Amino acid sequence: MIQLKNAAQIEKMRAAGRITGEALLLAGEAIKEGVSTKHLDDLIRQYIEKCGATPTFLGYGGFPGSACISVNDQVIHGIPSADVILKEGDIVKIDVGATFRGFVGDSANTFPVGKITKEAQKLIDCTKESFYRGASQFKEGNRIGDIGSAIQTYCEERGYGVIRRYEGHGVGRQLHEDPGVPNYGKPGRGPRLVTGMTLAIEPMVSAGSYEVRELRDGWTVVTVDGSLTAHYEHSVALTEEGLIYLTKVDSTL
Ligand code: MG
Ligand code: MG
Repeated sequence: MIQLKNAAQIEKMRAAGRITGEALLLAGEAIKEGVSTKHLDDLIRQYIEKCGATPTFLGYGGFPGSACISVNDQVIHGIPSADVILKEGDIVKIDVGATFRGFVGDSANTFPVGKITKEAQKLIDCTKESFYRGASQFKEGNRIGDIGSAIQTYCEERGYGVIRRYEGHGVGRQLHEDPGVPNYGKPGRGPRLVTGMTLAIEPMVSAGSYEVRELRDGWTVVTVDGSLTAHYEHSVALTEEGLIYLTKVDSTL
């Protein structure tokens, strides 16, 4: 069932979202060659806890980290590790959740390590822009399929594959609420979008095939063909005043 939020609840989600966005920004700024993904995870956990919030992902379904940190062909759910050392040319996806006063923020971004290839930068740019194309469809009277269709069309026109096995979701008191928000679909299909809905819209995009598999660690999702992937996510709310980006703390993100 879709849980609509009133204005007071959306204010609380803004607070959780701000902490989430700030933690993500902090980790992004710490990315450089030689840093381990465990170090980034530590920074995120420490920041969230300093704010009096809880890292939503820590222990979620048994997940061992505070953030999911996925490198190159890893799509999502990468486990932070002291053994994963970033090197020049990598692209790193960091996905963060923070729970504050009963509400959750969920946001992800893809960061370059030093100088990356033009192809990798194009993929990152496309993924981010596809998010905004999708989010622009989050308006009263549209349907979930309008969001997915906008994301899919933008990415596929550029020769990229949109990951289908994982999708965006409602977000609120829980990390994952109804409805599912696929990154593909048909306009005019799916649940109707109404004021009070809060969604995590999150395109996951592959430079090649959208087929993915899970590694033996039980978490990390990689592309079957080894293609690079990018991920971009914000928690967003549809209010009387229109769309609000709950996890966006920097206009450049
Ligand atoms: Mg996320
Ligand atoms: Mg999410």
